Amino acid sequence: MAVMRLHTLSLRALLLLGFWQTGRRSLASVPELKEQPKKIAVVGAGIGGTAAAFYLKQEFGPAVKIDVFESGTVGGRLATVKMGDYEYETGGSVIHPLNLHMKEFIEKLGIPPRKDVPSKMAIFDGKELVFEESDWFLINFFRLLWRYGFSFLRMQMWVESILDKFMRIYQYQQYGYSFSTVERLVHAMGGDGFLTLLNQTLEESMRGEGFSQVFINDIVSPITRVNYGQSVRINAFVGAVSLAGADSGLWAVDGGNKRVCSGLLYHTKSELISAKVTSISYTVRPSKKGGSTSFYEVNYVGESGAAHSLYDIVVIATPLHQGKSDITFSGLTPPIPSHYPGRYHQTVSTLVQGMLNVSFLGTTEPPSEFTVSEVLTMDSKGSVINSLSSLDPVHIPEGYKRPPASHTKVWKVFSPQPLTREQLDSMFLSYDSVSETQWLAYPTYRPPHRKIPPFILHDRLYYINALEWAASAMEMSAISARNVALLAHHRWHEQNRKIDQEDLHTRLRGEL
Ligand SMILES: Cc1cc2nc3c(=O)[nH]c(=O)nc-3n(C[C@H](O)[C@H](O)[C@H](O)COP(=O)(O)OP(=O)(O)OC[C@H]3O[C@@H](n4cnc5c(N)ncnc54)[C@H](O)[C@@H]3O)c2cc1C
Repeated sequence: MAVMRLHTLSLRALLLLGFWQTGRRSLASVPELKEQPKKIAVVGAGIGGTAAAFYLKQEFGPAVKIDVFESGTVGGRLATVKMGDYEYETGGSVIHPLNLHMKEFIEKLGIPPRKDVPSKMAIFDGKELVFEESDWFLINFFRLLWRYGFSFLRMQMWVESILDKFMRIYQYQQYGYSFSTVERLVHAMGGDGFLTLLNQTLEESMRGEGFSQVFINDIVSPITRVNYGQSVRINAFVGAVSLAGADSGLWAVDGGNKRVCSGLLYHTKSELISAKVTSISYTVRPSKKGGSTSFYEVNYVGESGAAHSLYDIVVIATPLHQGKSDITFSGLTPPIPSHYPGRYHQTVSTLVQGMLNVSFLGTTEPPSEFTVSEVLTMDSKGSVINSLSSLDPVHIPEGYKRPPASHTKVWKVFSPQPLTREQLDSMFLSYDSVSETQWLAYPTYRPPHRKIPPFILHDRLYYINALEWAASAMEMSAISARNVALLAHHRWHEQNRKIDQEDLHTRLRGEL
């Protein structure tokens, strides 16, 4: 005990002596002793921005004040609409069972997953259904085996091998490692092979793996069309994410996925400022203790007019692309554009409460026996839609059973353009209500990618949606949010050994 006290005393004495001799400069150079940031701004209250608030609080502690700006609705691309008595997802809807951050959020917030309702899939070539899933696993298996050999199984193995590497990011983040660019993050997961996936089309990659063009056209293309509204010429990385989205065990959040966003805001005691951020500038001011301090000035327009506030750190959690946001940046070197090159792809989500005209799908099955819930479409001239699905409410009531097509129920159509009256009339025998949302949904993926925007836009100004250019999904925004929170923390405290480390997979293997 005596030894302990002596030890502590001498340590304290040494520290005091150090301060005395070297003054304030050395204070700043001792990372643990640098003050925490006082105020952080997050622009955008979608899953990326609200997850950022969560991880920033985790990194910087409870005292940091976080303001989250939102010009539209909390949730962003996670949104629901009411049809009749129930609410339905109109934007991001399904979550993969291995999306660990989304899982962590609902556990922390005490929100259950939505009850599972079994689904059945079919593929439509614009004239007729060319494949229809049976209720019997063996029948599906032999039908696919007959037509495509073992391609289906090989595709699952290919996606699994990519997913295995993808999962490494969780371990890196657990250990506090972060990356300054999308390319470095993707490389840390899967090495040069993953960078190739980013710069090749899915079609090229799969052809290279020996998959036939017929299999790619018949099976792979309908999956990329439903998930990203695009063909198999998207990059192979987002393509693999898309194919993983065809796995079993997909889930959603009870009451609507956007509940995670409002839950995270509440949990982190962040202040929601309902305003549109118009510009961000860098200002240097004299500090009270002498010298100078720099801040970011965030200018915004809300209901009560224009205002501005100063922040130590700013996180942009909305795409900086044409049609998505219009923020101007000033006083920053190198300059940051309001819009990066590249476009966001339009997907129109039309929810129809009505009775389906099953003959539109070229089937002769009686509607009372038609229980398919997901109709995917092939990339053919006849396909004006990307997909058609029978929707279940965001909260599944007790005793709920999905009705067959002979009942009036809610269907969701994804299409590149708004549906015309004639198109709706040909797809539905009758309908009571229609709700249309035109989304600029995800990037238009055209590999090889021009340079993807960085996570670090300026000294303490960060950008979450850069990662969407590898793949867009709720979990990708959450992974990026955690990466940015770690980056912000390490750079604030000058802990560079936790940024852009090479060969992490081998180095951390011993830690498992
Ligand atoms: C139709 C559709 C289907 C999808 N399906 C799935 C799916 O099944 N599974 C899945 O994982 N993903 C899916 N996605 C993708 C997923 O929804 C997105 O990747 C994710 O929600 C993006 O979240 P985010 O927070 O990064 O961006 P956003 O949700 O776009 O949030 C950005 C927010 O910033 C706000 N904002 C913009 N500019 C300003 C400003 N100047 N000032 C203040 N606020 C501003 C916006 O209003 C918005 O709320 C789908 C997307 C769409 C559209």
